Amino acid sequence: MSGPVRLAEHTTSRVGGPAADWIEATSASQAVEAIRALDSSGIPLLVLGGGSNTLMADAGFPGTVVQLAFTGTQVIQEASGGTTLVRLAAGQDWDEAVAWTVAQGLTGLEALSGIPGSAGATPVQNVGAYGADVSHTLVSVQAWDRVAGDLVTLTAQDLQFGYRDSIIKRSLLASDDTTPRWVVLSADFRLHHTGRTAPVRFSQLAHALGVEEGEWAPLETIRHHVLHLRAGKGMVLDPEDHDTWSTGSFFTNPIVPAPVRAHLPGDAPAYGAGADEDGNALVKLSAAWLIDRAGFSKGFGLGPEEHDVAGARASLSTKHTLAVTNRGTARTADLLAIARTVRDGVRDRWGVELHPEPVLVGCRL
Ligand SMILES: Cc1cc2nc3c(=O)[nH]c(=O)nc-3n(C[C@H](O)[C@H](O)[C@H](O)COP(=O)(O)OP(=O)(O)OC[C@H]3O[C@@H](n4cnc5c(N)ncnc54)[C@H](O)[C@@H]3O)c2cc1C
Repeated sequence: MSGPVRLAEHTTSRVGGPAADWIEATSASQAVEAIRALDSSGIPLLVLGGGSNTLMADAGFPGTVVQLAFTGTQVIQEASGGTTLVRLAAGQDWDEAVAWTVAQGLTGLEALSGIPGSAGATPVQNVGAYGADVSHTLVSVQAWDRVAGDLVTLTAQDLQFGYRDSIIKRSLLASDDTTPRWVVLSADFRLHHTGRTAPVRFSQLAHALGVEEGEWAPLETIRHHVLHLRAGKGMVLDPEDHDTWSTGSFFTNPIVPAPVRAHLPGDAPAYGAGADEDGNALVKLSAAWLIDRAGFSKGFGLGPEEHDVAGARASLSTKHTLAVTNRGTARTADLLAIARTVRDGVRDRWGVELHPEPVLVGCRL
Protein backbone atom coordinates (compact mmCIF):
# COMPACT_ATOMS: atom_id res chain seq x y z
CA MET A 1 0.00 0.00 0.00
CA SER A 2 1.12 3.53 -0.68
CA GLY A 3 0.25 6.97 0.74
CA PRO A 4 -2.67 9.28 -0.05
CA VAL A 5 -3.56 9.68 -3.71
CA ARG A 6 -5.72 12.57 -4.91
CA LEU A 7 -8.86 11.16 -6.49
CA ALA A 8 -9.04 14.19 -8.82
CA GLU A 9 -6.10 12.60 -10.66
CA HIS A 10 -8.14 9.46 -11.33
CA THR A 11 -11.57 10.80 -12.28
CA THR A 12 -12.63 12.32 -15.60
CA SER A 13 -14.27 15.29 -13.83
CA ARG A 14 -10.87 15.86 -12.21
CA VAL A 15 -12.38 16.53 -8.80
CA GLY A 16 -12.22 14.63 -5.51
CA GLY A 17 -10.00 14.79 -2.42
CA PRO A 18 -7.43 12.24 -1.22
CA ALA A 19 -7.97 8.53 -0.66
CA ALA A 20 -6.60 7.27 2.66
CA ASP A 21 -5.04 4.35 0.84
CA TRP A 22 -4.68 3.09 -2.71
CA ILE A 23 -4.02 -0.32 -4.25
CA GLU A 24 -3.43 -0.79 -7.93
CA ALA A 25 -4.49 -4.37 -8.68
CA THR A 26 -2.60 -5.63 -11.70
CA SER A 27 -4.27 -9.06 -11.77
CA ALA A 28 -7.73 -10.41 -10.96
CA SER A 29 -6.31 -12.55 -8.14
CA GLN A 30 -4.56 -9.52 -6.62
CA ALA A 31 -7.87 -7.61 -6.74
CA VAL A 32 -9.77 -10.45 -5.07
CA GLU A 33 -7.11 -10.84 -2.39
CA ALA A 34 -7.21 -7.10 -1.62
CA ILE A 35 -11.02 -6.87 -1.61
CA ARG A 36 -11.35 -9.95 0.61
CA ALA A 37 -8.82 -8.60 3.11
CA LEU A 38 -10.41 -5.13 3.23
CA ASP A 39 -13.92 -6.52 3.61
CA SER A 40 -12.91 -8.83 6.44
CA SER A 41 -11.16 -6.02 8.28
CA GLY A 42 -14.10 -3.62 7.81
CA ILE A 43 -12.05 -0.98 5.99
CA PRO A 44 -14.23 1.03 3.56
CA LEU A 45 -13.63 -0.14 -0.01
CA LEU A 46 -13.99 1.72 -3.28
CA VAL A 47 -13.43 -0.24 -6.47
CA LEU A 48 -12.49 2.09 -9.31
CA GLY A 49 -12.02 1.58 -13.04
CA GLY A 50 -11.50 4.70 -15.15
CA GLY A 51 -13.32 7.07 -12.76
CA SER A 52 -15.59 8.28 -15.59
CA ASN A 53 -18.87 7.58 -13.82
CA THR A 54 -17.88 8.48 -10.26
CA LEU A 55 -18.20 11.83 -8.52
CA MET A 56 -15.92 11.86 -5.47
CA ALA A 57 -16.34 14.11 -2.45
CA ASP A 58 -13.92 17.01 -1.93
CA ALA A 59 -13.20 15.47 1.48
CA GLY A 60 -11.83 12.39 -0.28
CA PHE A 61 -12.34 8.74 0.64
CA PRO A 62 -11.56 7.50 4.17
CA GLY A 63 -10.82 3.91 3.12
CA THR A 64 -8.89 2.07 0.43
CA VAL A 65 -9.39 2.46 -3.29
CA VAL A 66 -8.73 -0.70 -5.28
CA GLN A 67 -8.12 0.33 -8.85
CA LEU A 68 -8.67 -2.49 -11.32
CA ALA A 69 -5.64 -2.12 -13.56
CA PHE A 70 -5.51 -5.55 -15.24
CA THR A 71 -6.12 -5.43 -18.97
CA GLY A 72 -6.62 -7.87 -21.81
CA THR A 73 -8.76 -8.79 -24.82
CA GLN A 74 -9.08 -12.44 -25.70
CA VAL A 75 -11.00 -14.61 -28.15
CA ILE A 76 -12.27 -17.50 -26.05
CA GLN A 77 -14.39 -19.27 -28.65
CA GLU A 78 -13.59 -18.92 -32.34
CA ALA A 79 -16.30 -18.45 -34.93
CA SER A 80 -19.17 -20.87 -34.42
CA GLY A 81 -22.58 -20.26 -35.99
CA GLY A 82 -21.44 -16.87 -37.25
CA THR A 83 -20.40 -15.60 -33.83
CA THR A 84 -17.24 -15.26 -31.72
CA LEU A 85 -17.04 -15.09 -27.94
CA VAL A 86 -14.58 -12.53 -26.60
CA ARG A 87 -13.45 -11.90 -23.01
CA LEU A 88 -12.43 -8.45 -21.77
CA ALA A 89 -10.53 -8.04 -18.50
CA ALA A 90 -12.15 -5.65 -16.02
CA GLY A 91 -9.44 -2.99 -16.23
CA GLN A 92 -9.29 -3.06 -20.01
CA ASP A 93 -9.87 0.37 -21.57
CA TRP A 94 -13.33 0.02 -23.13
CA ASP A 95 -12.74 2.06 -26.28
CA GLU A 96 -9.50 0.23 -27.07
CA ALA A 97 -11.46 -3.02 -26.77
CA VAL A 98 -14.16 -1.72 -29.13
CA ALA A 99 -11.46 -0.70 -31.65
CA TRP A 100 -10.00 -4.23 -31.36
CA THR A 101 -13.36 -5.87 -32.16
CA VAL A 102 -13.98 -3.54 -35.10
CA ALA A 103 -10.49 -4.25 -36.50
CA GLN A 104 -11.34 -7.96 -36.45
CA GLY A 105 -14.63 -7.41 -38.28
CA LEU A 106 -16.69 -8.37 -35.24
CA THR A 107 -20.09 -6.66 -35.02
CA GLY A 108 -21.92 -5.62 -31.86
CA LEU A 109 -19.90 -3.00 -29.97
CA GLU A 110 -19.17 -0.43 -32.72
CA ALA A 111 -21.95 1.98 -31.67
CA LEU A 112 -20.40 2.06 -28.18
CA SER A 113 -17.17 3.59 -29.52
CA GLY A 114 -15.66 6.46 -27.57
CA ILE A 115 -17.25 5.72 -24.19
CA PRO A 116 -14.54 6.28 -21.55
CA GLY A 117 -13.72 3.94 -18.70
CA SER A 118 -13.12 0.25 -18.17
CA ALA A 119 -14.74 -2.85 -19.66
CA GLY A 120 -15.56 -4.19 -16.18
CA ALA A 121 -17.73 -1.16 -15.38
CA THR A 122 -19.86 -1.42 -18.54
CA PRO A 123 -22.31 -4.01 -17.14
CA VAL A 124 -22.74 -1.96 -13.93
CA GLN A 125 -24.98 0.64 -15.57
CA ASN A 126 -25.61 -1.26 -18.82
CA VAL A 127 -23.62 1.30 -20.77
CA GLY A 128 -25.30 2.45 -23.94
CA ALA A 129 -25.29 4.94 -26.81
CA TYR A 130 -26.55 5.33 -30.39
CA GLY A 131 -29.14 2.56 -30.22
CA ALA A 132 -26.93 -0.05 -28.52
CA ASP A 133 -26.19 -1.09 -24.98
CA VAL A 134 -24.02 -3.84 -23.55
CA SER A 135 -27.05 -6.00 -22.70
CA HIS A 136 -27.41 -6.65 -26.47
CA THR A 137 -24.13 -8.59 -26.64
CA LEU A 138 -23.00 -9.42 -23.09
CA VAL A 139 -23.21 -13.15 -22.32
CA SER A 140 -21.86 -13.29 -18.77
CA VAL A 141 -19.41 -11.81 -16.29
CA GLN A 142 -16.94 -13.45 -13.93
CA ALA A 143 -17.17 -11.66 -10.61
CA TRP A 144 -16.14 -11.70 -6.97
CA ASP A 145 -19.24 -11.92 -4.79
CA ARG A 146 -18.38 -9.94 -1.62
CA VAL A 147 -21.35 -11.34 0.29
CA ALA A 148 -20.84 -15.02 -0.57
CA GLY A 149 -17.04 -14.63 -0.49
CA ASP A 150 -16.78 -16.58 -3.73
CA LEU A 151 -16.01 -16.33 -7.43
CA VAL A 152 -19.24 -16.50 -9.45
CA THR A 153 -20.43 -16.35 -13.03
CA LEU A 154 -23.46 -14.14 -13.63
CA THR A 155 -25.30 -14.51 -16.94
CA ALA A 156 -26.96 -11.59 -18.73
CA GLN A 157 -30.26 -12.86 -17.32
CA ASP A 158 -28.84 -12.88 -13.77
CA LEU A 159 -27.73 -9.27 -14.24
CA GLN A 160 -31.35 -8.10 -14.79
CA PHE A 161 -30.36 -5.26 -17.09
CA GLY A 162 -32.51 -2.16 -17.37
CA TYR A 163 -31.99 1.35 -18.72
CA ARG A 164 -28.58 2.41 -17.24
CA ASP A 165 -29.20 -0.22 -14.62
CA SER A 166 -28.35 -3.76 -13.53
CA ILE A 167 -28.49 -5.87 -10.40
CA ILE A 168 -24.89 -4.75 -9.74
CA LYS A 169 -25.83 -1.06 -9.70
CA ARG A 170 -28.93 -1.79 -7.61
CA SER A 171 -26.79 -3.64 -5.05
CA LEU A 172 -24.80 -0.43 -4.65
CA LEU A 173 -27.71 2.00 -4.47
CA ALA A 174 -29.57 -0.22 -1.98
CA SER A 175 -26.72 -0.14 0.54
CA ASP A 176 -24.53 2.38 2.34
CA ASP A 177 -21.54 0.70 0.76
CA THR A 178 -19.34 2.46 -1.78
CA THR A 179 -18.74 -0.64 -3.90
CA PRO A 180 -21.30 -3.06 -5.38
CA ARG A 181 -21.82 -6.58 -3.99
CA TRP A 182 -20.34 -8.05 -7.16
CA VAL A 183 -16.96 -6.89 -8.50
CA VAL A 184 -16.67 -7.75 -12.18
CA LEU A 185 -13.30 -9.34 -13.02
CA SER A 186 -13.98 -10.00 -16.70
CA ALA A 187 -16.88 -9.80 -19.13
CA ASP A 188 -17.75 -12.04 -22.10
CA PHE A 189 -19.46 -10.70 -25.23
CA ARG A 190 -20.85 -12.68 -28.18
CA LEU A 191 -20.13 -10.76 -31.38
CA HIS A 192 -21.23 -11.46 -34.95
CA HIS A 193 -19.44 -11.95 -38.23
CA THR A 194 -21.43 -9.89 -40.68
CA GLY A 195 -18.89 -9.18 -43.40
CA ARG A 196 -17.52 -6.07 -41.68
CA THR A 197 -20.90 -4.33 -41.72
CA ALA A 198 -23.55 -3.66 -39.08
CA PRO A 199 -27.10 -2.32 -38.89
CA VAL A 200 -27.48 1.35 -37.92
CA ARG A 201 -30.04 1.61 -35.12
CA PHE A 202 -30.12 5.30 -34.32
CA SER A 203 -31.66 8.01 -36.54
CA GLN A 204 -29.00 10.68 -35.87
CA LEU A 205 -26.25 8.22 -36.72
CA ALA A 206 -28.11 6.97 -39.81
CA HIS A 207 -28.48 10.57 -40.95
CA ALA A 208 -24.75 11.23 -40.47
CA LEU A 209 -23.98 8.10 -42.48
CA GLY A 210 -26.46 8.96 -45.22
CA VAL A 211 -28.45 5.73 -44.78
CA GLU A 212 -31.92 4.89 -43.47
CA GLU A 213 -32.25 3.69 -39.88
CA GLY A 214 -32.00 -0.12 -39.98
CA GLU A 215 -29.80 -0.12 -43.11
CA TRP A 216 -26.30 -1.57 -42.91
CA ALA A 217 -22.99 0.29 -43.07
CA PRO A 218 -19.30 -0.67 -42.80
CA LEU A 219 -18.12 -1.19 -39.20
CA GLU A 220 -15.15 1.16 -39.52
CA THR A 221 -17.41 3.88 -40.93
CA ILE A 222 -19.89 3.49 -38.07
CA ARG A 223 -17.08 3.76 -35.52
CA HIS A 224 -15.64 6.80 -37.26
CA HIS A 225 -19.00 8.62 -37.35
CA VAL A 226 -19.87 7.70 -33.74
CA LEU A 227 -16.54 9.15 -32.58
CA HIS A 228 -17.13 12.27 -34.67
CA LEU A 229 -20.70 12.79 -33.38
CA ARG A 230 -19.59 12.18 -29.79
CA ALA A 231 -16.65 14.59 -30.07
CA GLY A 232 -19.06 17.28 -31.30
CA LYS A 233 -20.99 16.85 -28.04
CA GLY A 234 -17.91 16.80 -25.80
CA MET A 235 -18.45 13.11 -25.15
CA VAL A 236 -14.96 11.88 -26.10
CA LEU A 237 -12.26 12.61 -23.52
CA ASP A 238 -9.92 15.39 -24.57
CA PRO A 239 -7.59 16.93 -21.96
CA GLU A 240 -7.62 20.22 -23.92
CA ASP A 241 -11.43 20.47 -23.93
CA HIS A 242 -13.07 21.35 -20.61
CA ASP A 243 -16.44 20.26 -22.02
CA THR A 244 -15.14 16.71 -21.58
CA TRP A 245 -14.08 17.17 -17.93
CA SER A 246 -17.26 15.52 -16.73
CA THR A 247 -18.94 12.21 -15.98
CA GLY A 248 -20.70 12.29 -19.36
CA SER A 249 -24.46 12.68 -18.89
CA PHE A 250 -25.09 13.83 -15.34
CA PHE A 251 -28.77 12.83 -15.41
CA THR A 252 -30.57 9.80 -16.80
CA ASN A 253 -33.57 10.30 -19.05
CA PRO A 254 -36.54 10.18 -16.65
CA ILE A 255 -39.03 7.34 -17.05
CA VAL A 256 -42.47 8.54 -15.95
CA PRO A 257 -46.13 7.44 -16.13
CA ALA A 258 -47.47 8.11 -19.65
CA PRO A 259 -50.03 10.77 -18.54
CA VAL A 260 -47.15 13.06 -17.41
CA ARG A 261 -46.40 13.57 -21.11
CA ALA A 262 -49.73 15.37 -21.57
CA HIS A 263 -48.51 18.20 -19.30
CA LEU A 264 -45.49 18.92 -21.51
CA PRO A 265 -45.41 20.93 -24.76
CA GLY A 266 -46.14 18.99 -27.96
CA ASP A 267 -42.51 19.03 -29.11
CA ALA A 268 -41.18 17.36 -25.92
CA PRO A 269 -39.55 14.10 -27.00
CA ALA A 270 -41.09 10.97 -25.40
CA TYR A 271 -40.55 7.30 -26.15
CA GLY A 272 -42.52 4.25 -25.02
CA ALA A 273 -40.77 2.60 -22.02
CA GLY A 274 -42.94 -0.40 -21.22
CA ALA A 275 -45.20 -0.55 -18.18
CA ASP A 276 -44.92 -0.53 -14.40
CA GLU A 277 -45.76 -3.53 -12.16
CA ASP A 278 -49.45 -2.64 -12.35
CA GLY A 279 -49.46 -2.52 -16.14
CA ASN A 280 -49.59 1.29 -16.42
CA ALA A 281 -47.77 2.63 -19.49
CA LEU A 282 -44.46 4.45 -19.00
CA VAL A 283 -42.63 6.91 -21.24
CA LYS A 284 -39.00 7.98 -21.33
CA LEU A 285 -38.48 11.75 -21.58
CA SER A 286 -35.38 13.57 -22.79
CA ALA A 287 -33.47 15.02 -19.82
CA ALA A 288 -31.54 17.30 -22.20
CA TRP A 289 -34.80 18.77 -23.56
CA LEU A 290 -36.27 19.25 -20.07
CA ILE A 291 -33.10 21.01 -18.88
CA ASP A 292 -32.79 23.25 -21.91
CA ARG A 293 -36.47 24.22 -21.90
CA ALA A 294 -36.40 24.89 -18.15
CA GLY A 295 -34.00 27.72 -18.99
CA PHE A 296 -30.61 26.05 -18.51
CA SER A 297 -28.93 26.30 -21.87
CA LYS A 298 -25.51 25.05 -22.94
CA GLY A 299 -22.77 26.69 -20.87
CA PHE A 300 -25.05 27.60 -17.93
CA GLY A 301 -22.77 28.37 -15.00
CA LEU A 302 -22.84 29.66 -11.47
CA GLY A 303 -19.80 31.86 -11.59
CA PRO A 304 -19.47 35.43 -10.44
CA GLU A 305 -21.48 36.22 -13.59
CA GLU A 306 -24.30 33.75 -14.08
CA HIS A 307 -24.37 32.18 -17.58
CA ASP A 308 -20.76 33.31 -17.96
CA VAL A 309 -18.61 30.26 -18.64
CA ALA A 310 -15.41 32.25 -18.48
CA GLY A 311 -16.11 33.26 -14.87
CA ALA A 312 -17.58 30.00 -13.62
CA ARG A 313 -15.51 27.20 -12.09
CA ALA A 314 -18.17 24.75 -13.27
CA SER A 315 -20.89 24.89 -15.88
CA LEU A 316 -23.06 22.80 -18.15
CA SER A 317 -21.04 21.78 -21.17
CA THR A 318 -21.04 24.38 -23.93
CA LYS A 319 -21.84 21.49 -26.32
CA HIS A 320 -24.52 19.54 -24.41
CA THR A 321 -26.92 20.42 -21.59
CA LEU A 322 -26.59 16.98 -19.97
CA ALA A 323 -22.94 17.23 -18.92
CA VAL A 324 -21.85 19.11 -15.79
CA THR A 325 -18.26 20.16 -16.44
CA ASN A 326 -15.18 21.35 -14.62
CA ARG A 327 -13.82 24.49 -16.32
CA GLY A 328 -10.38 23.88 -14.80
CA THR A 329 -10.48 24.85 -11.13
CA ALA A 330 -13.81 23.35 -9.98
CA ARG A 331 -14.30 21.32 -6.84
CA THR A 332 -16.96 18.67 -6.42
CA ALA A 333 -19.11 21.20 -4.54
CA ASP A 334 -19.15 23.43 -7.65
CA LEU A 335 -20.34 20.58 -9.88
CA LEU A 336 -23.00 19.61 -7.35
CA ALA A 337 -24.23 23.22 -7.11
CA ILE A 338 -24.85 23.28 -10.87
CA ALA A 339 -26.52 19.86 -10.80
CA ARG A 340 -28.78 20.87 -7.87
CA THR A 341 -29.84 24.11 -9.54
CA VAL A 342 -30.68 22.24 -12.74
CA ARG A 343 -32.51 19.42 -10.96
CA ASP A 344 -34.58 21.86 -8.88
CA GLY A 345 -35.30 24.09 -11.88
CA VAL A 346 -36.56 21.14 -13.94
CA ARG A 347 -38.74 20.00 -11.03
CA ASP A 348 -40.20 23.51 -10.62
CA ARG A 349 -40.81 24.01 -14.35
CA TRP A 350 -41.99 20.54 -15.41
CA GLY A 351 -42.78 18.63 -12.21
CA VAL A 352 -40.32 15.92 -13.29
CA GLU A 353 -37.56 14.62 -11.01
CA LEU A 354 -34.11 14.11 -12.56
CA HIS A 355 -31.83 11.42 -11.11
CA PRO A 356 -28.02 11.41 -11.32
CA GLU A 357 -26.37 8.87 -13.58
CA PRO A 358 -22.89 8.82 -11.97
CA VAL A 359 -22.21 7.17 -8.63
CA LEU A 360 -21.79 9.81 -5.91
CA VAL A 361 -19.17 8.80 -3.32
CA GLY A 362 -19.17 10.63 0.00
CA CYS A 363 -21.39 13.41 -1.38
CA ARG A 364 -25.06 13.96 -2.16
CA LEU A 365 -27.06 15.86 -4.72
C1 LIG B 1 -17.14 12.12 -21.64
C2 LIG B 1 -17.98 10.95 -21.13
C3 LIG B 1 -18.90 10.33 -21.96
C4 LIG B 1 -19.68 9.25 -21.50
N1 LIG B 1 -20.57 8.66 -22.36
C5 LIG B 1 -21.32 7.62 -21.93
C6 LIG B 1 -22.26 7.00 -22.81
O1 LIG B 1 -22.39 7.37 -23.97
N2 LIG B 1 -23.01 5.98 -22.32
C7 LIG B 1 -22.88 5.54 -21.03
O2 LIG B 1 -23.60 4.60 -20.66
N3 LIG B 1 -21.97 6.08 -20.19
C8 LIG B 1 -21.20 7.11 -20.60
N4 LIG B 1 -20.30 7.70 -19.75
C9 LIG B 1 -20.17 7.20 -18.36
C10 LIG B 1 -18.98 6.22 -18.14
O3 LIG B 1 -18.00 6.37 -19.12
C11 LIG B 1 -19.45 4.76 -18.14
O4 LIG B 1 -20.43 4.55 -17.16
C12 LIG B 1 -18.26 3.80 -17.89
O5 LIG B 1 -18.67 2.47 -18.09
C13 LIG B 1 -17.68 3.94 -16.48
O6 LIG B 1 -16.50 3.19 -16.45
P1 LIG B 1 -15.37 3.48 -15.40
O7 LIG B 1 -14.41 2.36 -15.44
O8 LIG B 1 -14.80 4.83 -15.63
O9 LIG B 1 -16.23 3.46 -14.04
P2 LIG B 1 -15.84 4.09 -12.64
O10 LIG B 1 -16.23 5.54 -12.64
O11 LIG B 1 -14.46 3.75 -12.25
O12 LIG B 1 -16.86 3.29 -11.70
C14 LIG B 1 -18.25 3.53 -11.83
C15 LIG B 1 -18.99 2.69 -10.77
O13 LIG B 1 -18.87 1.31 -11.08
C16 LIG B 1 -18.15 0.63 -10.04
N5 LIG B 1 -17.24 -0.27 -10.73
C17 LIG B 1 -16.19 0.06 -11.52
N6 LIG B 1 -15.62 -1.05 -12.00
C18 LIG B 1 -16.32 -2.10 -11.50
C19 LIG B 1 -16.20 -3.50 -11.62
N7 LIG B 1 -15.24 -4.06 -12.38
N8 LIG B 1 -17.09 -4.28 -10.97
C20 LIG B 1 -18.07 -3.73 -10.20
N9 LIG B 1 -18.21 -2.40 -10.04
C21 LIG B 1 -17.34 -1.60 -10.68
C22 LIG B 1 -17.45 1.68 -9.23
O14 LIG B 1 -17.30 1.27 -7.88
C23 LIG B 1 -18.42 2.85 -9.36
O15 LIG B 1 -19.49 2.69 -8.47
C24 LIG B 1 -19.51 8.79 -20.18
C25 LIG B 1 -18.57 9.42 -19.33
C26 LIG B 1 -17.81 10.50 -19.80
C27 LIG B 1 -16.80 11.14 -18.89
